[in-house]
Amino acid sequence: MHHFEYRGGRLHAEAVDLTALAETVGTPFYVYSEATLRRHIQVFQKSFADTDILVAYSVKANSNLAVLKVLASEGAGADVVSGGELKRALAAGIAPAKIVFSGVGKTDEEMSAALDAGIHQFNVESEPELIALSRVAVAIGKTAPIALRINPDVAAGGHAKISTGKSVDKFGVPYADAHTIFKRAATLPGIDVKGVDVHIGSQISELAPFEAAFGRVADLINTLRSDGITIERLDLGGGLGIPYGEGLTPPHPDAYGEMIKRITASLDVELIVEPGRMIVGNAGVLVSRVVYVKENGDRQFLILDAGMNDLLRPALYDAYHDIWPVAEPSGSTTIVYDVVGPVCESGDRFAASRALPEMREGDFVAILSAGAYGAVQASQYNSRPLTPEVLVNGDKHAIIRRRPSFEEMVALEETADWL
Ligand SMILES: *Cc1c(COP(=O)(O)O)cnc(C)c1O
Repeated sequence: MHHFEYRGGRLHAEAVDLTALAETVGTPFYVYSEATLRRHIQVFQKSFADTDILVAYSVKANSNLAVLKVLASEGAGADVVSGGELKRALAAGIAPAKIVFSGVGKTDEEMSAALDAGIHQFNVESEPELIALSRVAVAIGKTAPIALRINPDVAAGGHAKISTGKSVDKFGVPYADAHTIFKRAATLPGIDVKGVDVHIGSQISELAPFEAAFGRVADLINTLRSDGITIERLDLGGGLGIPYGEGLTPPHPDAYGEMIKRITASLDVELIVEPGRMIVGNAGVLVSRVVYVKENGDRQFLILDAGMNDLLRPALYDAYHDIWPVAEPSGSTTIVYDVVGPVCESGDRFAASRALPEMREGDFVAILSAGAYGAVQASQYNSRPLTPEVLVNGDKHAIIRRRPSFEEMVALEETADWL
């Protein structure tokens, strides 16, 4: 469910007319609905009502400070994967006690900053990382609460570039080694073993892979406990998919919550979940303008002013996004277009052979479900400025990241003194 719909023939974000917004902000830009953000986090929290759980929003899906503030005001915690994301979460007012730190390559500096902040948990992904964390913690006189991320060797379906739970993926420690590493962790100074962590991938559209992975970690917890290792927490990661309009209907958070409660009922652990896409994906769209309509033989290209540098998902993951005209089409005639961007790469394509109403130069289009892994992956490739982001609340809007000027884009560059 989201708050992007036609009113009087014009696409709106809540009560904000996107045509008018496009004229003031200039295209391309991302626009997020605050009502949708709030609704999604609430639905998610509600499906775990009466459970001892920390809902740690995965900051990498959309790390804009205003978005984080909205989620913080709903009581969400944060799952961060870098020192920068940690700073963002803290700046947005998320309590350190609600922050978990994941990622395979945490540096000494990042560990130290997180220890200073007093975060809830480090999700440790390897034995070398465990040893480094112990060393860093001892050096500054702190203790690191940790969970060990287990790679359950479960195929999660979906695109290979977003699968993380197979033994060939770089994430977590092998299931078979987990026991030994836990025993090692229990003996290390500066380390306080709290729990087990798992995250098997993203845009997962059925419950079965989750259930298989969670069942395996539940078994592991029982084994560890019978060996005298105290396990009080279970972090189940994120990964729940969303409908992108491509025909998949991922499970509702209620069904996901039910399954988790069933599998973990007898474990008596504090649960942690790290939803990202599910919270922000359908809360944002990318608005763009048709620069040209171009005919090449029998193909019709819609050339937009947004490109792969603004929204990388189609190029990176072959992702499907619905595309809607911002002015509601009056008839039902459609034309089959390849919808592409201006970037000099053949991969700069949002959709191939997509039936859309007839479009003209200057028309606006909205690329839907662009709230997650959209603006955060934007770059300045082709010296295109970073895409602005706008937050809507009812009939109000605020620019929550403005478009940089050319001078700002090149401000970090210098010519070498011999040039
Ligand atoms: C990316 C990521 C998430 C969030 O995944 P979604 O598919 O956006 O829910 C959660 N936990 C970890 C460790 C991640 O890397």
